[in-house]
Amino acid sequence: MTPYRIPYGCQSINQSDIDAVVEVLKSPWLTQGPTIERFEQALADYCQAEYAVAVCNATAALHIACLTAGLGQGDSLWTSPNTFVASANCARYCGASVDFVDINPHTWNMDADLLEQKLAAAELSGTLPKVVVVVAFAGQSADLQFIAQLSERYGFVLIEDAAHAVGASYLGRPVGCGAHAAMTIFSFHPVKIITSGEGGMVLTNRPEFAERLRRLRSHGITGDPALMQVSDKGLWYYQQLELGFNYRMTDLHAALGLSQVARLDEFVARRRELAARYQGLLMDLPLTLPVVQSGAESAWHLYVVRLDLTCIKLTQKQVFDALRSAGLGVNLHYIPVHLQPYYKEQGFAEGDFPEAERYFLEAISLPLFPELTDELQDEVVAHLQRILG
Ligand SMILES: *Cc1c(COP(=O)(O)O)cnc(C)c1O
Repeated sequence: MTPYRIPYGCQSINQSDIDAVVEVLKSPWLTQGPTIERFEQALADYCQAEYAVAVCNATAALHIACLTAGLGQGDSLWTSPNTFVASANCARYCGASVDFVDINPHTWNMDADLLEQKLAAAELSGTLPKVVVVVAFAGQSADLQFIAQLSERYGFVLIEDAAHAVGASYLGRPVGCGAHAAMTIFSFHPVKIITSGEGGMVLTNRPEFAERLRRLRSHGITGDPALMQVSDKGLWYYQQLELGFNYRMTDLHAALGLSQVARLDEFVARRRELAARYQGLLMDLPLTLPVVQSGAESAWHLYVVRLDLTCIKLTQKQVFDALRSAGLGVNLHYIPVHLQPYYKEQGFAEGDFPEAERYFLEAISLPLFPELTDELQDEVVAHLQRILG
């Protein structure tokens, strides 16, 4: 239960979602069974990807994607500082180090030109990253076409953290299609675009990646005789080939996720409608509104505005407090990851990524979710007008 009358995000669960979960409860399969495969196939089809591997959450998805990319001790992973900590933590799970590339001041995604400059410098010093995790912030892909070229030139594996972006498209194709990223990660946490309760998925077009991801999801075990060192033992036999995890999704979660895939287009359409309404209604306030890049159709996981603090008499905190006491569950996405105490201990400091830090002092995520009505959205706008006017 949210303490706010209007939260910043909220799942939408209907009777067919509930029926789908109950049906699995009555079936012989509770954990990894046929519904997982149907959920995987449904998203692979939706995204035009060859393979999809479902796991218990997107953090686990990032972890096994990094291992599949070969990330390990002595390697480094780069990501955006304007993301949830999971985009960086996945490197630490693999024993690798983390570095960041500052955001573009307009798109709030990783700045591809800064990435290019940093790669050129890293090549000279022999410190090129093995993996770059590019976040589709708020539901809009970064400059993936250019970053994919950089990935070929500098030899890193490009992972798109599309936790915000299932249902989005980029250059006319669905996010997750694998045209640019080697692997794409989705999250099905309740605040994201579609939910399975908890859940995540990795999409890829490379068969060897899909096979490794499936193995890592379940203890590093294979039942495929072709991969075993001994192969004549019979159907019951399995071998553990490497150290994996229990990152399996359950069929209960997959049933909810699969049911939500059927509603994905409707969710994204409503999010786009609400975002377009905000763009119109907020135009005259002292705010910087999100930029819609040509070529990228956002899934609008978040609607973030930046306060123009030179015009506004209040501090960001005062604006937050005023909105929250009006019952609006506004939020901040994100505190720059490098300023988290854990990352400061790794040597990062204030001033390292100034655009992400400036953004952090101005940003507010406004309520946006499919069941938000026009009337409630008008109320959000009216509060903003009152507070900022
Ligand atoms: C939510 C989120 C994650 C983690 O997803 P979980 O499914 O909660 O593990 C990773 N990256 C980003 C950008 C996210 O927003």
